[in-house]
Amino acid sequence: MAWQGIEGHDAIVARFAAAEARGRIAGSYLFVGPPGVGKSTFALALAKALLCEHPAPGLVPCGGCRSCIQAAAGSHPDIDVIGKPDDRATIPLELLIGDDQHRMREGLVWRLLLRPALGSRKVAIILDADHLAEEAANCLLKTLEEPPQAAVIILVGTAVERQLPTIRSRCQIIRFRPLPTATVERILGAEIRLAGGPDDPAVLRLRAMAAAGSLARGRSLADAGVGEFRGRLLAILGRRPLAGVELARDTIAVVEAAGKEAPPRRGRLRFVLETAVDLFRAALRQAVTHETPADPDFHHAAAAWAHDPEACAEALRHTLEALDAVDRNANLTVLVDAWTALLEEPRLARLA
Ligand SMILES: [Zn+2]
Repeated sequence: MAWQGIEGHDAIVARFAAAEARGRIAGSYLFVGPPGVGKSTFALALAKALLCEHPAPGLVPCGGCRSCIQAAAGSHPDIDVIGKPDDRATIPLELLIGDDQHRMREGLVWRLLLRPALGSRKVAIILDADHLAEEAANCLLKTLEEPPQAAVIILVGTAVERQLPTIRSRCQIIRFRPLPTATVERILGAEIRLAGGPDDPAVLRLRAMAAAGSLARGRSLADAGVGEFRGRLLAILGRRPLAGVELARDTIAVVEAAGKEAPPRRGRLRFVLETAVDLFRAALRQAVTHETPADPDFHHAAAAWAHDPEACAEALRHTLEALDAVDRNANLTVLVDAWTALLEEPRLARLA
């Protein structure tokens, strides 16, 4: 039975359960791992379990106490969650220490100093920790170093390297791995059946493979525009020298078709870039091991790159940098143009 319905992270659950049993829960944690594997969900489930009034062994919340009911409703006064607003490039300082008029009279750091409302603990969750700018991070340092009594602070990011050294060194690091394909397949299948969607095991299996361990990506593949684009994207990427203009035009079209809102547009661009990253990685692996990629959709495109590991590594680097910029760039069209131009760079093309 999965802990609070969370699959794929049993070792981390066991680690926290053992720490709690020994009274050794730390004051600050940094959760890292690829997007879409359930880090935020895990952080919220952990908060619920840590605050439960009658937990069962194994850090299992009772589900019926005052604390569990409020946690389930998302209105627990001692669970404090902040993250980067969609229209901002970083986590605003005021979310941590209040705005100019209310410095240290509002914000998460200040709220952590207050006594817990229900039990004996408070849990603060800081999402999007990759987007913690230096000034905001500095406000957190003292709190991370000496967390207020019985407070647990959880930062959720994607990679250790993306955190400031001052933050990293003050947190216990918990690494989340990509979910096994079988787990993604099972969860996506259950979701599709629940929604009354078409139940084709072969399609589901391919989607689970394409998700590369991320449930979020598996779900975005159900977004028809994106799912259909994947094949076309791999066809363009598999032609050398790479047709940058065509890649830019088609990528921008699929991003814009997501509507006017920024989050779904970013989601689609992230999907395109992640697919390209997977392809270049698969091609590099093939160059070294001579094994064709596990995902059959990659066979053709990976073969086009595998004989040319240098260009492939270069393309991978540019794509990872573009992926890194998705959440920081207001103008996605400019980002797509820059990315595709780099892939088309004479050097890359000449190597083809
Ligand atoms: Zn409870």
